[in-house]
Amino acid sequence: MIIICEAKATEAQINAVESKIREAGLVVHRSDGAEHTILGVVGDRIRLDVGTVSVMPGVRDVVPVSTPYKLASHEFHPENTIVRVGEECLVGGMEIAVMAGPCAVESEEQIEASAEFAAASGARILRGGAFKPRSSPYAFQGSGIEGLKMLRNAADRHGLAVVTEVMTIELIETVSEYADLLQVGARNMQNFPLLTALGHAGKPILLKRGMSATIQEWLMSAEYILTEGNPDVILCERGIRTFETATRNTLDLSSVPVIKHLSHLPIIVDPSHGVGNRRFVSSMARAAVAAGADGIMVEIHPNPDKALSDGPQSLAFEEFGLLMNRCRIIATTIGRRLGKAK
Ligand code: PEP
Ligand code: MN
Repeated sequence: MIIICEAKATEAQINAVESKIREAGLVVHRSDGAEHTILGVVGDRIRLDVGTVSVMPGVRDVVPVSTPYKLASHEFHPENTIVRVGEECLVGGMEIAVMAGPCAVESEEQIEASAEFAAASGARILRGGAFKPRSSPYAFQGSGIEGLKMLRNAADRHGLAVVTEVMTIELIETVSEYADLLQVGARNMQNFPLLTALGHAGKPILLKRGMSATIQEWLMSAEYILTEGNPDVILCERGIRTFETATRNTLDLSSVPVIKHLSHLPIIVDPSHGVGNRRFVSSMARAAVAAGADGIMVEIHPNPDKALSDGPQSLAFEEFGLLMNRCRIIATTIGRRLGKAK
């Protein structure tokens, strides 16, 4: 970090700042300008809190140079991470991973039809919530363990991996029995005890961006999982809250190149929650692939108008099939590929 002292900082104040830095085991380089003294700090920044230094007498500004997250950062991990999900699916490599399925598992028939169509279109991972974080306590809360079983069986019948949300620490073990990829929902992105526990889950984690989270906060949440020893984190952009009301959220597609610049972790995009309206889902899914996302997660339903959750943003099978054909063309154009139909 770089510390800029106030023009009127006294020698005693500057010395106190220098001592603070040395006490933290860091090295300080002092440079006296015509007006300001500048202190360059070298060493592991995590040992010294920016906030503590910035309020010391005589300090005008503190400019962090390195990122507050290390394990998630590209600087410390130049190779891109490829995460294996289930037996066959790799996320973060040449192939763009498609995760598709209903918002919530509702019945055998519904999840079977979704799995069949998803596999036949080239998706690799079946999604479906069994424990649902609903804004209203009166809305359908998911079918619980029965839902997990239906999801797993349908995925197995069609050679797909499974992603589903885990809402609490208590459910990690149960959900892990049925899922290949554990989803942390937007509402739990900063549930730090949950993230810490998932660091020991022994399964890859899909970490959705919180609806009001900055990219830095999102990466700090990934750091919670990584620092506990789980290296398999996939990030998922799912839209953030802005002043715009025409769409459910504002899908921040710029996070894709930004994450690629800052981090080695794979990033996928969920255009369904991003826009909340099926009319706009396909355009944003295609844009995500073009922007360099490592995958997309799309909600589909055999009868979207009858869905128990998120029907308005769910694609009918036909629309999804069309989207997959278009994404395949875009993937090829940018030197990547989409999964083959099963
Ligand atoms: C979901 O994927 O079904 C979901 C609830 O998403 P989010 O956490 O992004 O709202
Ligand atoms: Mn949903």
